[in-house]
Amino acid sequence: MAKLRDEILAANAAYAAAFGDERKLATPPARGVAVLTCMDSRIDFYRVTGLKLGDAHIIRNAGGRASDDAIRSLVISHKFLGTNQWAVIHHTGCGMEMFTGETMARLLETSLGTAIRDGEGWRNPDESGGSMEGHYIDWLTYDDPIKAICIDVARIRNHPLVPRSIPIDAFIYDVMTGRLEEVREASAIGRPGEPSGS
Ligand SMILES: [Zn+2]
Repeated sequence: MAKLRDEILAANAAYAAAFGDERKLATPPARGVAVLTCMDSRIDFYRVTGLKLGDAHIIRNAGGRASDDAIRSLVISHKFLGTNQWAVIHHTGCGMEMFTGETMARLLETSLGTAIRDGEGWRNPDESGGSMEGHYIDWLTYDDPIKAICIDVARIRNHPLVPRSIPIDAFIYDVMTGRLEEVREASAIGRPGEPSGS
């Protein structure tokens, strides 16, 4: 970790030395966009979308799921920073398809260490001690990618704190081709409607 820390500090020193126009960026995203996507390390958000630094809010969590905290960020993004076009981007090969909440809770009961996946599924490399707390968290895993993104868009669309006027587009990013495919049934759910104002 010390080596990584040194690498990061060295890279940042070079970045800060060349820092200039970035300080002119306004706090509200220039393109009025907020995107909810997965934390997956293979998604290079700016290159995938062509958006630039300062254009968009990027809200990332495991799976790009519409959790309470994702909703919190989206509502702040609109209420104080004026974003008025939202998107949800999931991706192929997402880790959230590779385990269930029950599996996660069971593994955490006996070990907090990184699990191993083999032909028989997930297992702990050791039983060094865990916690029952995993049973109290909704891990928001899924097994049907289309259904999952439809559920996320629907939750945002129907949330009482989200204005009906904001369009919510839905995409799945293919980590093998680099292509962003629109999920039409989910984008249809995210279409703007009459303002409810209730
Ligand atoms: Zn993912």
